[in-house]
Amino acid sequence: MTTVFGSVPSRRLGRSLGIDVVPPKTCSMDCVYCESGPTTCLTLERKPFVEPGKVLRDLDTHFSRYPQSAEVLTFSSAGEPTLYEPLGELIRAVKKRFPVLPVIVLTNGSLLWDSRVRADLTAADRVVPSLDAVSEEVFQKLNRPHGRLTASLMLEGLEALAKDYSGQLHVEVMLVSGMNDTPQEMEALGRFLRRVDPERVELNTVVRPPSEPGTTGLSPEAMQRAARFFPDGISRIIGRYQGGAVMQPEANLPARMLSLVKRRPCTMDEMILSLGVSPEEAAQALKKLEDSRRVGRYALHGREYICPRSRT
Ligand code: SF4
Repeated sequence: MTTVFGSVPSRRLGRSLGIDVVPPKTCSMDCVYCESGPTTCLTLERKPFVEPGKVLRDLDTHFSRYPQSAEVLTFSSAGEPTLYEPLGELIRAVKKRFPVLPVIVLTNGSLLWDSRVRADLTAADRVVPSLDAVSEEVFQKLNRPHGRLTASLMLEGLEALAKDYSGQLHVEVMLVSGMNDTPQEMEALGRFLRRVDPERVELNTVVRPPSEPGTTGLSPEAMQRAARFFPDGISRIIGRYQGGAVMQPEANLPARMLSLVKRRPCTMDEMILSLGVSPEEAAQALKKLEDSRRVGRYALHGREYICPRSRT
């Protein structure tokens, strides 16, 4: 199976080619809002899940078929990328092979207390750790972490990264209705983030089908109100993806579509943009996947998402 997926329509990154080096769904947390479904392997153990050379070959294959298909390379997965042990070695090799493409790592931030993980991340152009809670109670309820993780360990790790790391540090906060959107929690998050002083704070909310049914995001008005708790000038609410398509010659579209929605449920419009195909081609590929019962549809906030069948 290829370790490269997309390009993915990202609201933050534009057209991002995903690199996935962790088996689904291996993670140190089991967040209620996760768009990749429930965690099946809850762990803190780092492993070399795949050979770095295999990832480089997958990237070469992708770019030989779709040369202009990505603006950034993003380590992101249906799981936690820093659980990949040779992460630093691989990032350095990817940067050497594709020097014009920025490398970004999206991480849940749960291993940042480990100096080896922080050292691995120094090779990336941008690191985007998540931080959803400061209080232990909210952290446990919302992120459902591995038993050895605590909120204070998360905060300690993020502060240490901010001191060590010289690239772009953007912190993502996922706001979930009835969980971490109380004034007290947001006030505490804002205070902590002012101290860490990242380049940017990205305020996100649940807009895709969540792992735990009933988990909901904040309304646009509530997000605007929430933003007042976060550091002025550097905090922004993430908007919907607006990027343009790069038309790509078609090859095995149903498989590419399935690979995409396994990592992130998408609307049809997003898939058309991301995969660079016509609406007709996308509709035909979707029909094949639906007929073989590999994907289904999931309605949320008036939008229809295509998900792997197990999620619908
Ligand atoms: S949202 Fe991220 S950290 Fe949370 S369970 Fe999913 S993959 Fe893991």
